Amino acid sequence: MAETVAPSVADNQLERLDDEGTRQRYDLLERSESMTGVIALGRGDPDLPTPGHIVEAAKRAIERGADRVSDPAGLPELRRAIAAKLERENGVTVDPAGGVVVTTGGQEGLFLLVQAILGRGDEILVPDPRYTSYDVAIQMAGAKMVSVPTEERDGFDLDPGAVEQRITDRTRVLLLITPGNPTAGTITPPNLRRIAEIARKHDLLVISDEIYEKLLYDGAEHLSIGSLPGMAERTITLNGFSKTYCMTGWRVGYLAGPRKVMRRVRRLKDLASSCAPVVSQWAGVAALEGPQDAVEEYRRIYEGRRRVVLDGLDRLGFTYGDPRGAFYIFVNAASVGMDSIDLSRKLLEEARVLIFPGTGFGEQWVDYMRVSYLAPEEELAEAMSRVEACLGLRGGNGGAA
Ligand code: PLP
Repeated sequence: MAETVAPSVADNQLERLDDEGTRQRYDLLERSESMTGVIALGRGDPDLPTPGHIVEAAKRAIERGADRVSDPAGLPELRRAIAAKLERENGVTVDPAGGVVVTTGGQEGLFLLVQAILGRGDEILVPDPRYTSYDVAIQMAGAKMVSVPTEERDGFDLDPGAVEQRITDRTRVLLLITPGNPTAGTITPPNLRRIAEIARKHDLLVISDEIYEKLLYDGAEHLSIGSLPGMAERTITLNGFSKTYCMTGWRVGYLAGPRKVMRRVRRLKDLASSCAPVVSQWAGVAALEGPQDAVEEYRRIYEGRRRVVLDGLDRLGFTYGDPRGAFYIFVNAASVGMDSIDLSRKLLEEARVLIFPGTGFGEQWVDYMRVSYLAPEEELAEAMSRVEACLGLRGGNGGAA
C-alpha cells in the first residue's frame, strides 16, 4: 500500500504541520476536561440554542425523508437561498448553479478552497494574528504563507500599505477575515476599498471569510469585498451558519465565487464527503429564509457579555485592540510579566478559568490571550473575579459570584 501514497501526502505528517500553539491549546482543553467547575472562555462555538424554527425545519426534513445525498455543491434550494442572501445583504452576485458550494462547515470550506486555488510555491498573504486552521491547509497545498502584521493600537485593522509591500511575483491569494478571529477587529471600509484596488492591480484572488459578519458592536460596519467593482470575479466569500445561527454542530457552511474556482471546489467536496449533511442543508434554508429576529437578539446578548468582560479586563489593567466584532477579545496581558502559555496554565489550575494563549494564533503573540465570551453574564463576572483573585490584583469578590 505504501507505494500508492503520493510523496506529498507522506510528507505532510500532521504532527509536523501542526504548530506548537495548536498543541498547547489541545493540552489545555484536555486538562480542563479532567477538571470540575471550569469556566471555559476558550473555544469559539456559541453556547446559545439554534432558533426553534430552524430545528423544526430539520425535523420536517427528517420526516419527509432526507435519506439521499444532494449534489456535491449542495441542494439547489439552499444554493438559491445563499445566492439570494449574498445579493440582498452583501451586494455580492453569484450564480447559484455554478458559483456556490455548500460545505460541511466553513472549516471544511476553507480547507477545500485553499487546496483548490493554491499550488506549490504560490504565496498567500495572511493577516497576523490569524486563525491558524488556514496554516495547515496552506502547507498541505505546498504554498507559502506570508504574514501581514496587524496591531493592537489600530484595533487590528489591516493596513493596505502593509499588504502591498509584501506582494511578490509569486503572490496569488489574499486572505481577509473580518470581523477577525482571534482579534475581533474589523477591516474598516476605507481600508477594504484600498485593499480591493491592490488586489485588482496585482491580479490576486481574495478569500473573504465573513463568518462573523453579523456580530458587530459600537457602530462597526460590515462591507463585503466581493461587492466592490471588479471584485466578484476574484473573490471567494466564505460564510456559514455556526456563528450567526448558533449551529456549530450542524456542520454547514458555504463558499461562493467565480465559476472556474467553484468547479474545482465542488470536485474536491465530492471527493471529501459527497455532500454536506442534507438535514443540515434544509436547516440552512430555514435559517436564511426564515425570521431573523434571533440574530439581533443573540447579538445583543453578546454585547452585554462583552461589556462584563471588558469591565473586568479594565479593572485588571489589561489592554486590548478595540473588539468591534465576533465574540472574542484579544487581550494584552504583558503587565502580568509571565508568558501567556504559563499564564493560561496558571489560570486553569488555580482559578479554573480556561483562556487560550495568544500563541495559538501566531508564534509571536506570547503576551496575548484570546478570551471568548460564550457563557452567561454571571459566569463571565465570576470568571473575571477569579482571574483578579488569582493574579492578586483584587480581593477576588468583585464579580457577581
Ligand atoms: N472561519 C473562521 C475565521 C472561524 O473562526 C471559524 C470557526 O471558528 C470558521 C471559519 C469555521 O467555522 P464552522 O466550520 O463552524 O463553519
